[in-house]
Amino acid sequence: MIDYEKKINQLLHDQFGFARFRPGQEETIRAVLDHRNTLAVLPTGAGKSLLYQLPGYLFAGTVIIISPLISLMQDQVDRLHRQGESAVVMLNGQLVGPERRRVLGQLGRFRFVFISPEMLANETVLAAFARVKISLLVVDEAHCISQWGPDFRPEYLLLKEIRHRLGDPRTLLLTATATPAVRQDILAKMGLAASDVAVIVQSVDRSNIFLAVKNTTGQADKQEELLALVNKYQGPGVIYFASRKLASQMAAWLTSKTTLNVAAYHAGVTAVERFRIQEQFMNNQLQVICATSAFGMGIDKNDIRYVIHFHLPSNLENYLQEIGRAGRDGKQSIAILLYSAGDELIQRQLTTITVPPVEILAQVKQGKLAPAVLGEQADLFSFYLQHNFAPAQIARAFNRRQQQLERELQQLLAYVHSDGCRREYILHYFGENLRARPSYCCDNDEADIDEVPIETSLSTHPTDTTADWASQLRRLLNITER
Ligand code: ADP
Ligand code: MG
Repeated sequence: MIDYEKKINQLLHDQFGFARFRPGQEETIRAVLDHRNTLAVLPTGAGKSLLYQLPGYLFAGTVIIISPLISLMQDQVDRLHRQGESAVVMLNGQLVGPERRRVLGQLGRFRFVFISPEMLANETVLAAFARVKISLLVVDEAHCISQWGPDFRPEYLLLKEIRHRLGDPRTLLLTATATPAVRQDILAKMGLAASDVAVIVQSVDRSNIFLAVKNTTGQADKQEELLALVNKYQGPGVIYFASRKLASQMAAWLTSKTTLNVAAYHAGVTAVERFRIQEQFMNNQLQVICATSAFGMGIDKNDIRYVIHFHLPSNLENYLQEIGRAGRDGKQSIAILLYSAGDELIQRQLTTITVPPVEILAQVKQGKLAPAVLGEQADLFSFYLQHNFAPAQIARAFNRRQQQLERELQQLLAYVHSDGCRREYILHYFGENLRARPSYCCDNDEADIDEVPIETSLSTHPTDTTADWASQLRRLLNITER
C-alpha cells in the first residue's frame, strides 16, 4: 500500500505548485484513488484537470482523456508540457500516416493520452489500446454524452461500448454543468449504475457574475445596445453569436464604431489566425472577441469582465458554461443576454432536424435506397444504421430529442422573461438553493445594472511576445526544433 495521504499533498505542492486543494478536488481525487467510478460536477475554472492529472502520477499505466475539441486538447497538452511532463500525446484527425502508426505502436509509453470520441471509436485505435494498461478513463466535458446524442457527434453514444471494449477501466466523468436529470442520463448512457459511482457536486453558482437580460425592440436596437455596452465595459469581453457570419460582421462593425480591437473567433477562422487571436486576447492587445458557442470553449483567460449574448444560447446549461468564462479571477464581472421577441425562432431553426420516415430509413438499411435520400443529415442517420440501430428506434430517439430541446428552450425563455431573482432561477434549475445572495446579484434585484462595479484592465503597453509566439506556433503546427 502506498501512503496516499502524504503523496497527494506532496504532488499538489511539488508537481503542480498549488498551496491547497480547491473545493471538490480532494474528495474527487480520493474517490478515484479508492478505485471508484466517479462523476465530478465542478464549475468552470474549479480545476477539473487536476482531478486526473494528479492520480496520473500515482497510477502505473496510461490515463486516457476523451475530449470534444482539438483546441481543448491542445490547451491541456501545452499546460502539461509547461509543467515539465513530456509523456503526453494528442490523438485526433490531424495525426495521420506513419506518425499515427508510431504513436499507436507506443501508446503505453505515454502517461496522458488525449483523444476525440471519433478517434477512439476507430477499430485500429481500439486494438492499439487493448495492448495498454489503462489506469483511468476520463471523459472531460461529460455533459456532451447527454447533450450531443443523438443529433450531433453520435460517437458519444458509443462510449459505453468502447469502455467495455477497453476492459471497463475505472472511469472519471467531468463536467461543469449538469442538472440531476442530466447526471442520471450521463451514467445511464455510460452503462454505470448510480450505486457504483461516487458523485461529487459543487454549486454552479458564480457569485461574482452579475446576471442581466436586456430587452430590445429588434435587430437595430439590439446592435445599438451592444455598442453602448461594449463602449461602457471596454474589455476584456466575449460576445456570443448564433452564426459565424454575424460574429464576423459584428466584429467588423464594432471595430469601425469603437476604438477597441475586436476579432471574430469561430470555425470559419483558420487555426493559425485563431491562435494569433487567442494570444492577442491573452495579452490584452485585443479587447473583444465575437465568438460562436462552438469556439468559446477554447478561450481560457481569467480576467474576462463580461460575456454578452447577442443571440439566445440553446439552453441554460450552455448559458452557464458560456458566462462561466467571465471572472475566473474572482473579480466582479457581468453576464448580459440581449433579447428581442422572436429570437427563439433562430434557436429553433438551428436545432430542428427533419427525421426521414421509418420506411425510408429501412430501405436505406437494406441497401434499396442510397443514403443520399436521407438529405442533409445523411451521414448522421447512416451512422446509426451502420451501428445496427433499428429505424423505428432511430426515429423515436430523434423525436424524443426534439421534445427535449424544445423543453430546454422554454426553460431558457422563462429565465429571460422572469421578474424574480435570476440567480435563484438558475440554481433551482440545477437542483440547488441559493445560500447567500451576493451584493450584486441580478437586474431583477435591488442593485441597478449601472451600479455594478466592473473594472477594465486594458493594457496600454502591448508587450513584445514575438519570440514566445513563434515557439508556440511551432508547437501548434507540430514542428519540432530538432
Ligand atoms: P476547469 O477544467 O474546471 O474549468 P482547469 O482544470 O482548466 O479548470 O483549471 C483552471 C485553473 O485553475 C488552471 O489555471 C489551474 O492551473 C488552476 N488550478 C487548479 N487547481 C488549483 C488549485 N488547487 N490551486 C490553485 N489553482 C488551481
Ligand atoms: Mg476543463
